[in-house]
Amino acid sequence: MIVTREKPLDEISQSLDTVNAKKILVVGCDGCCQPPRSLKEAKTMGMMLELKYRKDGKDFEFEAITCLRQCDESIAATTLRPWIEKGHNVILSMACGIGVQMLAEIFPEVAVFPAQNTLFMGGKKIEGHVEKCAACGDCLLGYTGGVCPVANCAKSLMNGPCGGQVEGKCEVGNYKHPCAWIEIWKKLKDRPGGLDIYRRYRPPRDYRLQTGPRFDIEEEITNE
Ligand code: SF4
Ligand code: SF4
Repeated sequence: MIVTREKPLDEISQSLDTVNAKKILVVGCDGCCQPPRSLKEAKTMGMMLELKYRKDGKDFEFEAITCLRQCDESIAATTLRPWIEKGHNVILSMACGIGVQMLAEIFPEVAVFPAQNTLFMGGKKIEGHVEKCAACGDCLLGYTGGVCPVANCAKSLMNGPCGGQVEGKCEVGNYKHPCAWIEIWKKLKDRPGGLDIYRRYRPPRDYRLQTGPRFDIEEEITNE
């Protein structure tokens, strides 16, 4: 899931003011955005903005809809086109940055604004969302007991721990979070051959795999 955090209402209204927006389509996303940013959240956002604008003595109208996945070109185009044809020329997207960019690409004639800050790719635990993967392009989890050193080690070290861990906690963040490499050691130490894997030197990652923009259509691009 992609974890997002709502922008402050003032920041959203200031961005909408740059195009003097009065009739806005607030679009939720039913995809992997978390916490949920669906129809209910889109309606709530529209109502909060309406209250704010009325208080400031400004005109404001909104429609709230949702989209199965804003990041999917054909789904987003099919869902939103009827609304754009009805004259909505400003969109406030409740999706992650991918959804916002997709809408801006599909509807170049429309001003698209983000209502969220996109934080990370993560999982949901009882205590909240936690970053789990940084999309490094060369997954190491098979050698690290299922703990990701790229996303979970503050320095993304390939060999650890560094000298900054104290009693299993990382110096970055003032010893609040577990050291990823101590967690990796705990996972591997009792596995047959696990310590050999743990002690093995891992060369630096190939950062070219993580250099943007990235595509999964390399063949088509190369053949052009
Ligand atoms: S090793 Fe790379 S691909 Fe695997 S979970 Fe970590 S960041 Fe993601
Ligand atoms: S203490 Fe552990 S998690 Fe923190 S930077 Fe060093 S190896 Fe990474």
